[in-house]
Amino acid sequence: MKRVLVIVSVLVLLFVVGLFVTHHRHETTPMVATSAAPLAAASAAPTDLAGGVPTAFSHPGANVIVIAIDTLRADSTTMCGYRRDTTPNLERFAQHSYLFRKAWSVAPWTVPSFMSIFTGLFPSHHGVTNKFTAVGPNKLVATTLSPTILTLPQILHRHGYVLAGFTGDAGVSGSFGFSRGFSVYRDDLHFGAMNHSIPLALAWLKHRPTGKPFFLFVHGYDVHGMFTPPHGYTRRFVHDYHGKLTGSPAEDAKFREASLYAGLQPGWLGHPHVVGMTAADGRFYKALYDEKIYDCDKRIHRFLVKLKKMGLYDNSIIVMVSDHGDEFLDHGSIDHGQSLYDELVHVLLMIHLPGQVQGQAFDDPVNSFDALPTVLDCLGIPIHHHIDAVSLRPLMTGGKMPQKYWFSETDYRFFVHKRSVRDKRYKLILDMTTMQRELYDTIADPHEKHNLINEKPKVAMRLEKVLEAWLHSLGTPLDEYRGVHQKPITVF
Ligand SMILES: [Zn+2]
Repeated sequence: MKRVLVIVSVLVLLFVVGLFVTHHRHETTPMVATSAAPLAAASAAPTDLAGGVPTAFSHPGANVIVIAIDTLRADSTTMCGYRRDTTPNLERFAQHSYLFRKAWSVAPWTVPSFMSIFTGLFPSHHGVTNKFTAVGPNKLVATTLSPTILTLPQILHRHGYVLAGFTGDAGVSGSFGFSRGFSVYRDDLHFGAMNHSIPLALAWLKHRPTGKPFFLFVHGYDVHGMFTPPHGYTRRFVHDYHGKLTGSPAEDAKFREASLYAGLQPGWLGHPHVVGMTAADGRFYKALYDEKIYDCDKRIHRFLVKLKKMGLYDNSIIVMVSDHGDEFLDHGSIDHGQSLYDELVHVLLMIHLPGQVQGQAFDDPVNSFDALPTVLDCLGIPIHHHIDAVSLRPLMTGGKMPQKYWFSETDYRFFVHKRSVRDKRYKLILDMTTMQRELYDTIADPHEKHNLINEKPKVAMRLEKVLEAWLHSLGTPLDEYRGVHQKPITVF
């Protein structure tokens, strides 16, 4: 009997301990991602996660590392639920970072988008909307940021930061104004990737000036159409392709131009045959793109490992951001710049704060150009002039962002003039030259295939009023664009 009592007591004790452990584990399980189940939308403050380690928002004097993956579509990453496991390492990074799963870029191509990230201004405000600026009927000059506009890295420089940039040139060439305030700004390899910029950045970090915090900008065209993997494609994600395309930069450029000219046709909303590609060709291009993402993910992982070994990972704010996405016949085109659909404006944005162990994912919409104002806010550095971007502090500290609308714009190569406004559900795209309107329900129709402009006139009218007010605030009223319809320039 005594023995039975002991056994029962032990079982009861094990049961109680089990209950406690189960309950405890439940409470302390961080909101982390797995490839099977993406991170849940977070509503609690990071510090409210019971048993979790609180994440402090303020980090005065921390180093800043911005890793910029050019042309990366958010919907093609593992942590945003992509069907292919393209970014296992970035997903691990997301597990102890803030992941903004609905980050919209204010522009769909490199030059205006990165200048918006650098300045916190809409492209129409910073003025670097094209690589060239027309100064006469047949005269173009290279565009550069107005000297009256202060970049956000320049503000860091004024607060004692050393700035260093290692880039793939082209759309982030220092000549546009990106290099202002930088001690080093490398842009010597046209369409260079991280396999070029990361070694340069690591060499600089080893010999950097001591005694000052740094802002490091590491950029690469690893997934861009103009970049081919150094050892060719393994075709990791290609299945059953029997077409003749190879995915070479020259081929990509040919389809890009064909897309742009196809868009000259009034009312064109995308017809793949116009650019000379089949649907199978488009899927093949997407598979090659995914392979490049997979390779880039590995390069960034190796970089993060090196940062940890150098003791820089835990005392730096690390931002991962992309400037725009890429199109693979989603709306009948190839490349980017030419439209404002989500394959081009839904971008990657993750922020890792020093010492952060708890990841958190947000489904609240934000803009990617909010990244640097958020960083400055973390560092306690004020911005004394007007910018359009905002700090994401409210969201990251358990609150909500005040915005109701998010805008994007493109004046790609003086030809495509489009603007968009979206709320949390609907998105209106306005072609400024033809006044053609498209309205999408981004929840019911996330791929923007069903134009609701005739079915939801009240919604369209409401959003168009918001868009017009925004255009007015930018000093670019609609009337300036109506009827402008130039051919694309060949130099860009
Ligand atoms: Zn780009």
